[in-house]
Amino acid sequence: TVRTRFAPSPTGLLHIGNARAALFNFLFARHHGGKFLLRIEDTDKERSTQKAVDVIFDGLSWMGITPDEEPVFQSTREPRHKDVAEDLLARGLAYRCYCTPQELQAMREEAQAKGLPPRYNGYWRDRDPSEAPPGAPFAVRLKAPREGETIIRDLVQGEVRVANAEMDDLIILRSDGSPTYLHAVVVDDHDMAITHVIRGDDHLTNTFRQAMIYRAMGWDLPQFAHLPLIHGPDGAKLSKRHGAQSVVEFRDEGFLPEALCNYLLRLGWGHGDAEILSRDEQIRLFDLDGVGRSPSRMDYVKLTHLNGVYLREADDARLTDDVLTRLAGREGVKTDETVRQRVLAAMPGLKERAKLLTDLADSAAFFGRSVPLDYDAKALKQLDEKGKETLKGVAHVLALVEPFDAAAVDAALRAFAEKHELKLGQVAQPLRAAMTGSSVSPGIDLTLAALGRDEVLARIGAAIA
Ligand code: GLU
Repeated sequence: TVRTRFAPSPTGLLHIGNARAALFNFLFARHHGGKFLLRIEDTDKERSTQKAVDVIFDGLSWMGITPDEEPVFQSTREPRHKDVAEDLLARGLAYRCYCTPQELQAMREEAQAKGLPPRYNGYWRDRDPSEAPPGAPFAVRLKAPREGETIIRDLVQGEVRVANAEMDDLIILRSDGSPTYLHAVVVDDHDMAITHVIRGDDHLTNTFRQAMIYRAMGWDLPQFAHLPLIHGPDGAKLSKRHGAQSVVEFRDEGFLPEALCNYLLRLGWGHGDAEILSRDEQIRLFDLDGVGRSPSRMDYVKLTHLNGVYLREADDARLTDDVLTRLAGREGVKTDETVRQRVLAAMPGLKERAKLLTDLADSAAFFGRSVPLDYDAKALKQLDEKGKETLKGVAHVLALVEPFDAAAVDAALRAFAEKHELKLGQVAQPLRAAMTGSSVSPGIDLTLAALGRDEVLARIGAAIA
């Protein structure tokens, strides 16, 4: 059965390129009725942080990507990595290299002088270890094949090959006894019975070296699928100047996880014209043959538009909770139960206009403010003599509307406008100014109904005072 894994290093933020790899691994496993696993590659003790581990767990769960087995922390497997290295040593498939840093540096310079890539020249490959000074530190290197080629049949890139003569003897254990990344990944993928390694194509060159470790151990290779990277809108490597790059940033900027996942899926994977897919449809349709070979370009405008589409479909109570979380702690904005009820009632109107959850929070903030409001310039213009006169009259009408819901409020405002030979806008605009302190709100009937009669009358009172 299919077993995939996502193997992030907890050294930074959860980059969307990695998040997309996680999504593809997850969908691929689900599609084939297999299992998706998570392995935290925390062997670099200097750079790994608990915060980065938390970001990975939070980010994945926010995206609805959950592993099917307990996550594996690579650092706990160090004894096993060492055992495998010892085994290779015992069988003569690896050897101890006693070269000093200075000697290695000299080798690199020698290669460079000849215009070759820096490489190890195999000095200790066939040498007797007794030639080394007693107690000298050593690294363990794999005795890599020197003839022939290594061929990988990649499920995305097709057949890729490299001449073995171009690769030197890679280190599997450092002189401090710690396993290298290349070695640990192979041992772990083997022990976790991973069948498909789906990851960014920046790992493609590692794959040739990893293949050598598999072969030395006599282990079956998994299938590989190397995904093209995500570039910025201009085709350059995605960087800060393009915009958000990490899952946390997208969340903070107000994207819904299902919109981000849908976008990331469609970026670099296609299935006919299908644009918007539910998670169930994604699982049903996803396979690696739909993954393209060229780098994708991140289109923030398209993602933002897609987010608006998802926002309008999203559940009002869920959006309200999100908005209140975003509003909490804003100066002068309450987020108590009364405010929650108001925002929830107005949500059908609020979400029509928003593309991002941050927009939604901004547009809902007035529900949490208390009189007297701050009025912006446009609002002040509406609250001139004439506007105040209108508000006075309308207050009398609103005091009597029964029930105080959107339909009855709408009918009352229309009747009031007609009676005083005003356009509806001439009534709605001063009201909007009085309610929000600005010139924007959802429909005025919905806004008033959501605020409730007492608050509406209090806000009018403050505006005409
Ligand atoms: N830990 C590696 C990284 O975060 C990924 C290893 C892999 O997928 O094989 O880049």
